[in-house]
Amino acid sequence: MDSWRSIGLPVAGVSLISALGYYCLSRPVKAKSPRQKRLKKQQENMILFFDESGAKCYSCPDHNISTCLVEQCPLRHLWKIVKIVSEARYTVDVCLYSLTHPDLENAFLNLLKNGKKVRCVFGMRNDEEDRSVKLLRSEGAFVTVKDRHSPATVPSKFVIPYLLMHHKFVIVDNRILITGSMNWTTSVSVIQSFHANWDHIIISTDKFLVSQFVEEFECLHAGGAGGDEKTYITRPTVGPSLQAIFFRKQSLLCRPDANRKKKCDRPDCMFTVYRAVLHHIVSASVSIDICVQQLTLEDVGNELVLSHDNGIKIRVISDRAYARGTGSQIPYFIKEGIPVHMKSDQETVHHKFIIVDGKTVLSGSLNWTMQSFFGNYENLLVIRDADLVSEFQREFERLWEFFPTANSVRA
Ligand SMILES: [Zn+2]
Ligand SMILES: [Zn+2]
Repeated sequence: MDSWRSIGLPVAGVSLISALGYYCLSRPVKAKSPRQKRLKKQQENMILFFDESGAKCYSCPDHNISTCLVEQCPLRHLWKIVKIVSEARYTVDVCLYSLTHPDLENAFLNLLKNGKKVRCVFGMRNDEEDRSVKLLRSEGAFVTVKDRHSPATVPSKFVIPYLLMHHKFVIVDNRILITGSMNWTTSVSVIQSFHANWDHIIISTDKFLVSQFVEEFECLHAGGAGGDEKTYITRPTVGPSLQAIFFRKQSLLCRPDANRKKKCDRPDCMFTVYRAVLHHIVSASVSIDICVQQLTLEDVGNELVLSHDNGIKIRVISDRAYARGTGSQIPYFIKEGIPVHMKSDQETVHHKFIIVDGKTVLSGSLNWTMQSFFGNYENLLVIRDADLVSEFQREFERLWEFFPTANSVRA
């Protein structure tokens, strides 16, 4: 049943009314003290880090989230996410590369059973025949599965077979955004995602950030499987403490620009956005801390080596399995004397964040590859919120200590 219509209001009307309702409820009756303001700000953004302790919690037979002493207990994190999703009052919008985690899948199914509206956009990791797609549809979810095909207008030599819908975000009641680098997956055979990845999830009620993701979801959902959504790319601007940049597969049209290093005539040329993102890195004056699974962009590699030569303190944490992959810039960094820390092949560093001067974090679903910038559906947050940035910095320092120095990409 469509819960929106059951209470006799049009969809747009409800979301506006609920948004206004939240606004009215949260309006301060009297001026807040600085401490109250700080508390409110803290509650606006929360970051959950996942790390190697995941395997310990998952293998504990009588694990209890309320007594577990592991600081970054993945099961406690998971419980928080399930709770936020389950407490949705009206609608949940799901935009995931993949959904296989049973607890999260059940949270969505239970909402549908309770008359809430669930809309989904999945990547091909959840294809039409997929169990969870069928289940969600059978309970009344509106599911779109994005295809992998390139727009017909792309020059054939630039067509690549895998264009991923790579987002990992969920919006609850148009009010709470859950996003980050973590995939909502699990597997009994492979240790991944919630189990033992180094990964993160951001939960935010920042109005500007949430509104950007709401707009992106509407666009992706309306576009259908073929992805004929209107071309719309958010340009980075200076100002908001949390801002999203979105990438769509139309950005594949601008891949030739990256090769000739010149923008094209398209009004939404992705090369301009790419240059703006690079500018954050190029403009560092003190330090750049990198914690990424994949970095194959030569432009980024060259700029980092140049910055290193110019005395900027560069530190790199990466995933050892990907560091050996085609095009990886990690061997180049090691050769040029940039310190690199990596662990064994067994666990996955799935983060995608870069901290510039301890003041700005670039992080999202996006890997630092050509395919992510020029082809996939992705998001990249530009984070200037001081509290969030310091939490990223703290996690970086912890991992920097924890991971040994790598003198080679070989294990
Ligand atoms: Zn635990
Ligand atoms: Zn272009």
